[in-house]
Amino acid sequence: MKILVAVKRVIDYNVQIRVKEDGTGVVTDNVKMSTNPPDDNAIEEAVKIKEAGKASEVVAVTVGEEKAQETVRKALAVGADRGVHVKVDGTLEPLAVSKILQKIADKEKPDLVFMGKQAIDDDCNQTGQMLSALLNWPQATFASKIDVKDNKLEVTREIDEGLETIEINVPAIVTCDLRLNEPRYASLPNIMKAKKKPIEEIAASDLGVDVSPRLEQLKVEEPPKRKAGIKVANVAELVQKLKNEAKVI
Ligand code: AMP
Repeated sequence: MKILVAVKRVIDYNVQIRVKEDGTGVVTDNVKMSTNPPDDNAIEEAVKIKEAGKASEVVAVTVGEEKAQETVRKALAVGADRGVHVKVDGTLEPLAVSKILQKIADKEKPDLVFMGKQAIDDDCNQTGQMLSALLNWPQATFASKIDVKDNKLEVTREIDEGLETIEINVPAIVTCDLRLNEPRYASLPNIMKAKKKPIEEIAASDLGVDVSPRLEQLKVEEPPKRKAGIKVANVAELVQKLKNEAKVI
């Protein structure tokens, strides 16, 4: 079984996001970037499945500018076998990324594509679903447990009502939740070894995919500042304030 894992380079989750003064986006210059957190879970799960003898190869793929390759290197340092970097400048919408990933899936012929449930920069939660539609493969989203069973997968998904367990046929797309596993850290020797693992570079323009945006971004602005809270002495005062001031009960 071959597993393709999509990893995206995003602003690190610890960074305090700042909006550009002209409202055209967020500041990315000199800002720490990292792998999108659920994509680390996707890589971890693929590597664990390989370690359990149920997968033969794990291939990490990223779509993005030159520096996006760092995310592939990190995936190689925690156990992926090789990488693919589809080079493209500028911000891409999920539809463009999923069309590019479709081309990579056509070429690589994986049995499984693991992705994050959501990218923390655009919060779209669309790329996996769109890829599933383009490839016409089954999908299991928000996976918090994955069991590989011959040519099927048993996936537990987090839903509003609790946990749902579904069985899907392979080939399939799985988008991974943060609760799926605990991603390992890359050890120094493995970081050094990863430098020797191959990364194939492909120009997005060579894939014949239309990556032009379908959405027009009007403005990016900071959320309104929250007012300071107050402390109440007891439940009676809380109820009185909710009733008479906030008027919510
Ligand atoms: P999104 O639909 O933007 O919330 O992204 C969901 C998932 O799709 C991410 O967690 C990644 O696994 C994958 N993905 C999105 N954009 C990229 C990209 N540029 N390169 C690689 N994977 C991506």
